[in-house]
Amino acid sequence: MATQTHGQLRFLLVPLMSQSHLIPFTDMAKLLAHHGMAVSIIITPLNAIRFNEIIDYAKQLNLSIQFISLKFPGAEVGLPEGCENMDSLPSPSLAPKFFDASNMLQKQLENLLAESEIKPDCIVSDLCLPWTSNISIKFNIPRLIFHTVSCFCLLCCHNIERHKVMQSITSSSEPFLIPDIPDKIEFTEPQLPMTRSDLSDGFRARMTTFREAEDSAEGILVNTFEELEPRYVEEYNKVKRIWCMGPLFFASDTFAGENYNKAPIDHEALQWLDSKPPSTVIYVCFGSLSRLKSQQLMEIGLGLEASNHSFIWVIRNGDQLTELEKWFEEYKFEEKITGRGLIIKGWAPQVSILSHSATGGFLTHCGWNSTLEGVTAGKPMGTWPMFAEQFYNEKLLVEVLKIGVRVGVETSVPWAEKQKIEALVEKGKIKKAVEMVMEEGGEGEERRRRAREIGESAKKALKEGGSSYLSTTSLIQHIMKLQISRQ
Ligand code: UDP
Repeated sequence: MATQTHGQLRFLLVPLMSQSHLIPFTDMAKLLAHHGMAVSIIITPLNAIRFNEIIDYAKQLNLSIQFISLKFPGAEVGLPEGCENMDSLPSPSLAPKFFDASNMLQKQLENLLAESEIKPDCIVSDLCLPWTSNISIKFNIPRLIFHTVSCFCLLCCHNIERHKVMQSITSSSEPFLIPDIPDKIEFTEPQLPMTRSDLSDGFRARMTTFREAEDSAEGILVNTFEELEPRYVEEYNKVKRIWCMGPLFFASDTFAGENYNKAPIDHEALQWLDSKPPSTVIYVCFGSLSRLKSQQLMEIGLGLEASNHSFIWVIRNGDQLTELEKWFEEYKFEEKITGRGLIIKGWAPQVSILSHSATGGFLTHCGWNSTLEGVTAGKPMGTWPMFAEQFYNEKLLVEVLKIGVRVGVETSVPWAEKQKIEALVEKGKIKKAVEMVMEEGGEGEERRRRAREIGESAKKALKEGGSSYLSTTSLIQHIMKLQISRQ
């Protein structure tokens, strides 16, 4: 490990090898380094290539950030060659194996810490890697859990559990209120993937180990900011010791400024957006993990076509592309939307697209990173939750913040347990949601105004004196005190 200057704390970040975890973890590395900390991030060789930019970033800005590369033991659990990131799993059904391989990283990290002269002062662990608690005990290093969800979601989950809500549900279609939260929010059982009664025992057991490892941690780091969900931050703070540090993806914009000579993003989508009037394009993307059936993709295509709005539509490689492309040809889809629609097959520069002035709205699966990125860009959102905590994010956007419009999905899919998103959302619902998100007058204007306001507060949170800035400095002081007491 690299040397650190006298008095500088070293944070060891241990993320799950999945895009929606690695992205905020590397952003957290930047944030902590800008606050003067030394940071080491656990990574694997193929993921290091994807996130190489951070090394150049640190070099240019003279920050102390380093990768510690461990071999990902995928082959040892029967995963295909080169499968080091959740998004490269050929099927979600392989997720349990992926978690098994992730657990096997423990031994390598233990050996490394035993051999190294420098000891980290704090471990920041992914919730999904509970074995970091053993390392924390063995090497006497305080450990924090980093949550890649909102305080709204954390409080709802906590209260569902505390009040044993699921035990009193008699029908899966019966809506129930989340007890003891600041707003009146209803869910139905099929919207809650973590508590559904049809979960496998293996999934449940894994969740229990996550919870136990969380309970024994020093505290919780949350990628949110106080102004976004003040009452939920306040209430969850009574449950657990938390520090809100978000929106983490905005750390480099906030601190690096013009001192960082970033290679320009040369992507056709950005040039295409340059040719469009302000706030006229809806950006459609469902994150790094969702896989849609070709029939669903066709409905999306038809819904976007019928909406008459300009759009950028991102289609994942894991989606059923061959069948879709056949349909594109037969229906002459690309001809029909020429000039009005741009299709990206693969990975889109999402943050740059969202912050472009021509982008007027975002149709999202409500992953937490996408949600924060949309919120910070100040854009109204169409909400189409699919799995994990995404229904909570929908409720936050639509019912608490009032900057979202529901597409109208009622059931979540436990991602790792089902092959494909089964329920079909038909084109009429998609068209209607797009039209409402892009609406210029009336309620649409009000949503847009609120979204802009929240976006402004997001951009202030990390700046000196902002809520997340102060929370980060208080975290650092806390770890310093612990370090002194351990000497
Ligand atoms: N993302 C991106 N380009 C894409 C798809 C996703 O940059 O084409 C990024 C997106 O900006 C976000 C992350 O991948 O930071 C997805 O995380 P999220 O929590 O929204 O969803 P998940 O991938 O976990 O479903």
